[in-house]
Amino acid sequence: MASREGSTFKRCGCRDEATGRALGVRCPQLKRRGGGWNPAHGAWAFQYELPRTADGKRRQARRVGLGTYAEAVEGLDQVKALMGLAQGDEEVGVQVADLIQTALAQRRPLPDVEEVRKRIGTGVDVRAQVPTVEAWLKEWLEGKLDLAEGTRASYAGHINKYLVPHLGTVFWKWERSRVRPGRLGERARTP
Ligand SMILES: [Zn+2]
Repeated sequence: MASREGSTFKRCGCRDEATGRALGVRCPQLKRRGGGWNPAHGAWAFQYELPRTADGKRRQARRVGLGTYAEAVEGLDQVKALMGLAQGDEEVGVQVADLIQTALAQRRPLPDVEEVRKRIGTGVDVRAQVPTVEAWLKEWLEGKLDLAEGTRASYAGHINKYLVPHLGTVFWKWERSRVRPGRLGERARTP
């Protein structure tokens, strides 16, 4: 059973020979006689009860087929850390859970905790596929193909030293008021 604590466990692909149905947790080889998980059988998995969807459906964060126990624990911890970011805010909790559910359904890595924390801080819907300030500026710099090497290094310095640390939360207001990348270039050129 999934719970707010979550769980790690093992699953295999064995099927009932007669019915062809997956044995799931009933596979006799999954556990050792002593009771622990059999290290020579099945793959690791984790499961966690997420907040219900916006329309009230129950759902679990569940990933199977992991190579090690450590990977299962890490995945479960990351889901818990992500859900912890909502700090009890129901609406944000549902959004974060949507993000987790989508990543798992698409077999993508779980969302980065710091990135989601930043999104919550800016007040944007955390589900929106917005780049971080850093990623956005890096992309802009990479798009500037005609830059001399020294100029590029200087821009990169400005971005790392001033823009990324200081713009963080105000950046999306700029973006919404249509400050285009060229304008940031003007700023970077000013000593
Ligand atoms: Zn089995």
